[in-house]
Amino acid sequence: MGISIPDVVCPFCGCLCDDLIIHVDNGRIIKNEHGCAISKSKFLHHLDDRLEHPEIRDGDSHQTVELKTAISHCVDLLKNARRPLIYGLSSVENDAHREAYKIADLVGAIVDNTSSVCHGPTILGTQESGEAAGSLAEVKNRADLVIYWGSNPQFAHPRHISRFVKPPGEFIHDPRTDREVWVFDIRKSITATLADRFVKVEPGRDLEVLSALRALVRGHEIDVSEVGGVPIDTIRELAERMKSAKYGILFFGLGLTQSHGRHHNVDAAIRLVQDLNSYTKWNMMSMRGHYNVAGANKTLTWTTGYPFAVDFSRGFPRYQPGEYTAVDLLRRGEVDVLLNIGADPVAHFPKVAVSHIRKIPVINIDPKRNLTSLFAEVNIPTAIAGIECDGAAVRMDGLPLYLKKVMNPPEGIIPDREVLQMIYEQLEEVMQ
Ligand code: SF4
Repeated sequence: MGISIPDVVCPFCGCLCDDLIIHVDNGRIIKNEHGCAISKSKFLHHLDDRLEHPEIRDGDSHQTVELKTAISHCVDLLKNARRPLIYGLSSVENDAHREAYKIADLVGAIVDNTSSVCHGPTILGTQESGEAAGSLAEVKNRADLVIYWGSNPQFAHPRHISRFVKPPGEFIHDPRTDREVWVFDIRKSITATLADRFVKVEPGRDLEVLSALRALVRGHEIDVSEVGGVPIDTIRELAERMKSAKYGILFFGLGLTQSHGRHHNVDAAIRLVQDLNSYTKWNMMSMRGHYNVAGANKTLTWTTGYPFAVDFSRGFPRYQPGEYTAVDLLRRGEVDVLLNIGADPVAHFPKVAVSHIRKIPVINIDPKRNLTSLFAEVNIPTAIAGIECDGAAVRMDGLPLYLKKVMNPPEGIIPDREVLQMIYEQLEEVMQ
């Protein structure tokens, strides 16, 4: 007879929805209640495209090997590396991070996570100007003005609006009348079609619109007819409405962090929110993509003081985005071994970085086959955290949540943290 497991956390996007009911029957997941289409696919198809056995490259193909043989090969590669890079970590749970950082410390590697190619500018902007952070619970209970800037949650975070914006909250009795949703974007996205107001910004001119809003919020006059494609009268009206909100929240995505201006855009948004706090209550929050990219930033900060791009080669952590970020290191051809954990850089990095990946040995730790696994020297399959093993992850607002194990992994497959622990322990022995 099947079982139903309540309050399961979805390990896909930064919303970490914690209300799923997963039905398991006869060793298979047969139903995912409450999950969005992406979540249903992740749970119901978790056995598709799996790496089934550890394997080592043999010419143009891969040879299946025992786990201990694969681990020994990883240890040989890492101990002889001069400039190893450990990358990924945003789709694995926090205990796996700890083991990866121990390896980095031992062999003097660089650790970078996927935030260096997504919300890295957010972190730099925050380090520059502070963090006006809030929680998703506050948004649901208090926000009467919600802004999505350069973000399309209906595609990338399908339950963000239905869980935190559409339902009533403690002080929002009827969200249809008590809450307004605005979208700032370069095109009318599917999220914009649901919003109360859509503001079309010319591509790459977010910084100017944010700066104009800020000037008007501070009471300065601007002697132009439009900024960034938005009429100045509209910007003036928006600024007044933002000042009159009881509690406003600015959610922003890669449309802001990766357009012209990058961390300066985030810096301007933070300063706008700081200015608005002279009048009323405002917070801002980045729409984190991978389910534990916020966790990767937190655990690395807890461990080293820095959130990404950390170099251990001198025996102590050093931080330098642009110098120790994965794409920059690979582009300059510095890295001689890549330990990739739960990411697919071959699919997502620029061509020049991928060209270097193809010249060096790659140790790939991942539950599934992907483009990186095709080029890897060693592939080690692992259990999917939140489905086949437990763990902890950090939601986009910084809330840590416990990921449940709902069924056993395929035979012989163990969690990322155990694979990394085996590599660390063997490295420690041979490097004494
Ligand atoms: S919105 Fe994100 S976390 Fe929530 S169910 Fe969908 S994929 Fe999972």
